Amino acid sequence: MNKAQALQKISTKIKRCLICRKDSIGLPVVGEGDPDAKIVFIGEAPGKTESLTGRPFVGRSGKFLRAQLKTIGLDEKNVYITSPVKYLPKQGTPTPQQIAHGRTHLDEQLAVINPAVIVLMGRVAAEAVLGEYLAISKLHGQTIKKDNKIYFISYHPAAALRFDRKTFIQDFKKIRKLI
Ligand code: URA
Repeated sequence: MNKAQALQKISTKIKRCLICRKDSIGLPVVGEGDPDAKIVFIGEAPGKTESLTGRPFVGRSGKFLRAQLKTIGLDEKNVYITSPVKYLPKQGTPTPQQIAHGRTHLDEQLAVINPAVIVLMGRVAAEAVLGEYLAISKLHGQTIKKDNKIYFISYHPAAALRFDRKTFIQDFKKIRKLI
């Protein structure tokens, strides 16, 4: 089985997952991009636009993220974009249980893609992937090396749009040098 087939198998599992669907709205958003990506971008949970289209990061913050990828010379087709939580949570923000469950699917996706660099966009992404709380306001723009991978810490694009676009853009410029 190649990487695309392995990811497809995980997508089917996510789409059939009753635990994911509990207290959630709309379509599943499994993630999209290159199964062989060297870099993966991880957010929090789909928003309204994503839950209507089934695609990750296609709403306002997604457009901002995709524009920044272009600015740093990354083609969105050569990266992989996803979130730990695969559905829009009914209450908007995912619960710790939803994050813990979503993480099981995300871990499987990351094991298949096996990227060199993982960009953790926000607290939820960091907690889901590294299993620990990180103060994003202190650590944004920095890398953590662990298990032969580079984790890059950034704000979530929605937070950047609300509070500090400039820092997000500056942080993203550092990503290009990592790959
Ligand atoms: N925010 C996320 O974290 N993920 C999406 O897919 C969209 C918005």
